[in-house]
Amino acid sequence: LAAEEGFDLDDLDGLGDGGHAPLPVLAVVGRPNVGKSTLVNRIIGRREAVVEDKPGVTRDRVTYEATWNGRRFKVVDTGGWEIDVLGIDAMVAAQAELGIEQADAVLFVVDATVGATDTDEALIKIIRRAGKPTVLCANKVDGPSTEAEAAYLWSLGLGEPYPVSALHGRGSGDLLDAVMAALPEAPPQTFGDAAPGGPRRIALIGRPNVGKSSLLNKVAGEERVVVNELAGTTRDPVDEMIELGGKTWKFVDTAGIRRRVHLTAGADFYASLRTTAALDKAEVAVVLVDASETLAEQDTRIISMAVEAGRAVVIAYNKWDQIDEERRYYLEREIERDLVQVQWAPRVNVSAKTGRHMEKLVPAIETALEGWETRITTARLNAFLGELVAAHPHPIRGGKQPRVLFGTQAGTRPPRFVLFASGFLEAGYRRFIERRLREEFGFVGTPISISVRVRE
Ligand code: GDP
Ligand code: GDP
Repeated sequence: LAAEEGFDLDDLDGLGDGGHAPLPVLAVVGRPNVGKSTLVNRIIGRREAVVEDKPGVTRDRVTYEATWNGRRFKVVDTGGWEIDVLGIDAMVAAQAELGIEQADAVLFVVDATVGATDTDEALIKIIRRAGKPTVLCANKVDGPSTEAEAAYLWSLGLGEPYPVSALHGRGSGDLLDAVMAALPEAPPQTFGDAAPGGPRRIALIGRPNVGKSSLLNKVAGEERVVVNELAGTTRDPVDEMIELGGKTWKFVDTAGIRRRVHLTAGADFYASLRTTAALDKAEVAVVLVDASETLAEQDTRIISMAVEAGRAVVIAYNKWDQIDEERRYYLEREIERDLVQVQWAPRVNVSAKTGRHMEKLVPAIETALEGWETRITTARLNAFLGELVAAHPHPIRGGKQPRVLFGTQAGTRPPRFVLFASGFLEAGYRRFIERRLREEFGFVGTPISISVRVRE
């Protein structure tokens, strides 16, 4: 049904709405109008979320937090948005697939008064393939008279159908007990040592001698705050809390910078390990470059490491106090030649020695983090994609013209897009889409990934 090409970053924080401790995720899957939204409202104990009577109401995959018997989890309503180019079945299938991929368990909802349709059968195939624990909900069983219909759903081969009336609440307790049994107790650790609402984590990286420890001394020395025993936070002794621009930031793995182990043999290897470790723990990378020297291959390699790690990126050109007109001219040429692929990264020209432009560091970091966390609604994204592919269709190859059918943002931190297409999209066309996405939505300071799924 689906083939995938292109690169795909791990979804770093489950569903990409950041800032929360990771919770197990339940995807609510079903064709339009079976009562998914009503059921989700029931589960989260709310009534105000939109429920409309017509199938395929445009809306996004939405995530809510819920609690049952003291256990917290996330509920994703893999709602229906309608796009004409694809049949409703393909649309529903595509959404379900994305929702299921990111979930720990699946709640499959069938309208018991209608029974299983072809669309339901198509969904079951996807669910089987994903191999996630699944609970079957036979919805719209408003009273005992419809319970027999629910029993027919045993034939779907998904185990016991739980008869429920999402509308009135009937049977929802048993259903939730089954859901809790299907969800893992402790969700997998997904993203570093993220503490909700804690300070943002910065990795200060760069090749030896670019001025990392000087910069650290500058910012720490002047504006250091001692945040030793913050309630409930365990402090990694290799990290430092530093106050900058009125906020506390966690500079990760600063011990590696301060220790200044400049081994002669294996120094590169050591430096690269340290960079990897710091990137692992960070949200944003400040890559320091020595602007007074020709850009080295090691500089571009470190920038690539940050991009590939999926971190927000700021590039700081240090030792600006040593730059004359001529060097400046050559530096700009070097940047054009070697750093085109990170044109989106905010740039600051600083001097750790004189303190020049230190105040520009925080705004650059904040801009990058903002880009990193940006989410575009499916409606906006598809309006944009529709116009884009109409004006600039994919070139015809071998008599065929692959079309972008629709797209969705599958995650943030960094933004991750999945495009569904009728054929293979060339790398050049994907880059073109990325460029236009950036022009339209910003994404300053963040890598973005676009993966393509081909629908036959
Ligand atoms: P979704 O498209 O799967 O999210 O379905 P909705 O939650 O929007 O529900 C579709 C329609 O079915 C709405 O008119 C709901 O009021 C109705 N509905 C949902 N659950 C039940 C139920 O348990 N019993 C009855 N009788 N109607 C329901
Ligand atoms: P690290 O290896 O990246 O931590 O680099 P250091 O902070 O140890 O700096 C390497 C050398 O560059 C030291 O001699 C610093 O004094 C010098 N240095 C660092 N920043 C600047 C700067 O902004 N201007 C000048 N002129 N020298 C700098």
